[in-house]
Amino acid sequence: METLPPATSRRRIRIRLRGIVQGVGFRPFVYNLALKLNLAGYVLNSSAGLVAEVEGHPAAVDAFVATLREDPPPLAWIQKMEVSELEAEGGETFVIRESVAETGEFALVSPDVATCDDCFRDFTTAANRRFGYPFTNCTNCGPRYTIIRDIPYDRPNTTMAAFPMCAACQAEYDDPRERRFHAQPNACPECGPALSAPLEEARRRLAAGEILAIKGLGGFHLACDARNGAAVGRLRERKRRSDKPFALMARDLAAVEAICAVSDADRRALLSPRRAIVILQRGAAGTLPNAIAPANRTLGIMLPYTPLHHLLFTGAPYSILVMTSGNLSEEPIVVSNADARERLSGVADWFLTHDRDIYMRTDDSVVRTFEGTERVIRRSRGFAPQTMDLGRRIPELLACGPELKNTFCLTKGQHAILSQHIGDLENYETLVFFEETLANLKKLFRVEPRAVAYDLHPLYLSTKYALGLGGLPKFGVQHHHAHIAACMAENGLGGEVIGVAFDGTGYGTDGAIWGGEFLVARYSAFERRGHLRYVPLAGGDAAVREPWRAALAYLIDTFGAAAQFEGVPENRAGVVRRMIETGVNTVPTSSCGRLFDAVAAIIGLRTAVNFEAQAAIELEMIAEDGNSGRYPFEIEAGPLWQVDFRPAIARIAREAAEGAPRPSISAKFHNTVAEAIIETCRRIRGETKLTRVCLSGGTFQNMRLLGLAVTGLRASGFEVFLHAKVPPNDGGIALGQAVIAAEFAR
Ligand SMILES: [Zn+2]
Ligand SMILES: [Zn+2]
Ligand SMILES: [Zn+2]
Repeated sequence: METLPPATSRRRIRIRLRGIVQGVGFRPFVYNLALKLNLAGYVLNSSAGLVAEVEGHPAAVDAFVATLREDPPPLAWIQKMEVSELEAEGGETFVIRESVAETGEFALVSPDVATCDDCFRDFTTAANRRFGYPFTNCTNCGPRYTIIRDIPYDRPNTTMAAFPMCAACQAEYDDPRERRFHAQPNACPECGPALSAPLEEARRRLAAGEILAIKGLGGFHLACDARNGAAVGRLRERKRRSDKPFALMARDLAAVEAICAVSDADRRALLSPRRAIVILQRGAAGTLPNAIAPANRTLGIMLPYTPLHHLLFTGAPYSILVMTSGNLSEEPIVVSNADARERLSGVADWFLTHDRDIYMRTDDSVVRTFEGTERVIRRSRGFAPQTMDLGRRIPELLACGPELKNTFCLTKGQHAILSQHIGDLENYETLVFFEETLANLKKLFRVEPRAVAYDLHPLYLSTKYALGLGGLPKFGVQHHHAHIAACMAENGLGGEVIGVAFDGTGYGTDGAIWGGEFLVARYSAFERRGHLRYVPLAGGDAAVREPWRAALAYLIDTFGAAAQFEGVPENRAGVVRRMIETGVNTVPTSSCGRLFDAVAAIIGLRTAVNFEAQAAIELEMIAEDGNSGRYPFEIEAGPLWQVDFRPAIARIAREAAEGAPRPSISAKFHNTVAEAIIETCRRIRGETKLTRVCLSGGTFQNMRLLGLAVTGLRASGFEVFLHAKVPPNDGGIALGQAVIAAEFAR
């Protein structure tokens, strides 16, 4: 080895890196780089990130810094690099030192990463000592967030602590030239986790049409051969899940392309190390049973993301498996072996478990692409707990999020830490999951919230939880303001925007249920400038489960009290009619979700739903392409612009009665809603001169409406901002709550 220059002509610097710099092979990278550049010094992980000191020829030190900046390890994300000059100390060696904990400091925890190509080669190569081993991983891939109990990210702080490494694994772990140097979950068949049963048996049972409960990375899946209609039907029946689409896992990209249309952006999303479920257009040559995703033109498909998944397909006669969350109806996904046996034994014919504990439960994430960009629908495995940069420091806060599709948000410095998908906070099990995840993220990121944000809806469990926290200042945030603020935050917008927040349900400041809202919003405040005309919604939750109630409300509003709705027996309709007349157990709503429900019911598509937004989704799915017709509507001036769809409802009811084809009615209805959005934004621009529009709310998961609105708004000279990193649905509003509360918290 070359000798270093004499101390007098040396330069020494200290580098501190923040971001995702642990568990991604950064220390061996620095070690090998220092050796290559003939530098002395050390590198270590601290609870704040990564610290290195290097000393040597000044040009070599410059080259070292430049390489870190321009060519860091592939999974690393450098958020901040601080370089300070030090006195040269002498010394000839470069070493990796023990990790240190710095008080109050934290390093970002990496999300779980799908199996890398090198590891795939290891467990598929017969001569490799990891051949066929389902827990193969390295510094570039494998479990992270799901196994980390505390920081710094070292093996004793993970659920791998239970598996002492064998000599061969330890040698890899200790050698900075190895791909598995300090790979905390490093394991092999000698020393690592093991399956409860042979993989051949799992493959044989799946091929025979059995339903398996399979322990994965963030929880259990229920799996069966997707081409076996009887198995899929049995799974539906046993899981008590009537129509909601099942997620699929395909052997490889070719298997996906055989059943779906896959764009370049879709392909990137499918192959990303996040390995989310990607929502894809079904291809013409679909050979899957209809029961997988009834009445849906799309399929949700992911590729294998652990060696176990890959190996399930190796040599198997099937190429596509149903891989739905291992849970009962709306409970959280099951993570422990004991829980699985207890809760899933009525669903699964057989269990494939293993002995590596899952510390943090995470569901599969769901994304779809729009305009070439991946957009998150459910943000969970592969994304959490990656933080979002707020661009400014804000006080430490907790935003408790909504009721449905709950996520919560913590803030620290300029990071927003959005939890993984928690689920619908409607039962005790989900609330416990919320509390466990909150405790864990507070610990990992060393957050002690000084204020709490919550949704104004008094009955949300998340609201009750927030209000029950003693001693902290609390900020109630209006639901749709939070939607728009989330969209602003993820797009880095300041100032004021026009916010179009369309969804099913959000508590309004007037006690009505809002959901078709036009706001002028900034972080600190919003003004409601327009909304869909109120209709009376009868029967609380029943009105959401039974779209015919919204249909009757719209028909009465349009045609008067004598309006008839043929879709349900008159004795049932009569009860609702009287409720609407007397106002008993009714609430006014501007919900766009209920408008879609009403149209779906009026045209005879569906009078009751089995899952949230089912009627609206089916209405979208039947829409005819290339139909540019539309229905009349009015926008009434007043203190607020009121979008009045009664003229459209009148025409739709007549066309439906005359037997007009539903695909045509649906297409024209979508065109009409988009046009109403564009026209109302034009009016608000006339008053405010604002030209930036944020679109948020679950309704914008409707791709047809989204596409029409975006195109039309741009054609009208608006600059349009959408979600990509957080969901447009209620899974994104915790971020909005946090940035709004940050305006007030001290
Ligand atoms: Zn790997
Ligand atoms: Zn080993
Ligand atoms: Zn919402």
